[in-house]
Amino acid sequence: MPELPEVETVRRGLEPVLAGRRLRRIETRRSDLRFPLPRRFRERLEGARVGRLDRRAKFLLAELDTGEVFVSHLGMSGRYVVHPAEAPERALGDPYFAAPPDPAHTHVVFETDRGDRIEYNDPRRFGYMDLVAADAIGLHPWFLDLGPEPLGGVFSGEHLSEAFKGKQQSVKSALLDQRVVAGLGNIYVCEALFRARVDPRRPAGRIARPRLDRLAQTVRDVLLEAIEAGGSSLRDYARTDGALGYFQHRFQIYDRESEPCVNCGRKIHRITQAGRSTFCCVHCQR
Ligand SMILES: [Zn+2]
Repeated sequence: MPELPEVETVRRGLEPVLAGRRLRRIETRRSDLRFPLPRRFRERLEGARVGRLDRRAKFLLAELDTGEVFVSHLGMSGRYVVHPAEAPERALGDPYFAAPPDPAHTHVVFETDRGDRIEYNDPRRFGYMDLVAADAIGLHPWFLDLGPEPLGGVFSGEHLSEAFKGKQQSVKSALLDQRVVAGLGNIYVCEALFRARVDPRRPAGRIARPRLDRLAQTVRDVLLEAIEAGGSSLRDYARTDGALGYFQHRFQIYDRESEPCVNCGRKIHRITQAGRSTFCCVHCQR
């Protein structure tokens, strides 16, 4: 499942093909993904020029000169595959999957005035798209209650201290709450808690301020490292057509049950919190 760094990498992969281009042709091969596509989806996109490409939490946002914003969430298995006009057989901008996409799961095709084709492929169809008026995007239900961006200026130990005040909920669950901070998922929360040496079961409201400062900084660090790794895998992918996986090799704790902790050498544990796996070292994380 793509998390914030993966979505940011997709944004960076799509930007050179989409920003400033006019959408010449849109093809929809079904009328819904997780939700129905917005009405007159094709007509509202065809002929529009794309301005900036942004990311908010795990949403991709493409500003259009029609006053609307194209909003896309990749869900569990959504991917954008770029077929450049000059070499359409060589797909770019999709560094996560070793296997080529199955064309049966290509649901939406975007063609630009330069002839580049961008295909949205999503086998599980948990992804979704919408077209939203640019001046009302903050009021859209997907964005209304989102907390600050973890890489933005508002997110800090001070912010966590305010958001966690009086909370009995575990710090793991609190960090996954999108109202507290937007776009964090299971993998990077596990990594950040491990690197900040915070026990994921600790009640959020009972963590001292200096540790929250450290935790906020650690969240930023793990995300920035992953975005950097994504950037290099994007470059590698564009250079070769090698099979590249997720950034899993860089994880210190996630999905490493029973392996030795890189810090103390004792076994990493997997526990379940709110129905999801947490990986932690019970010796190092307090
Ligand atoms: Zn340890």
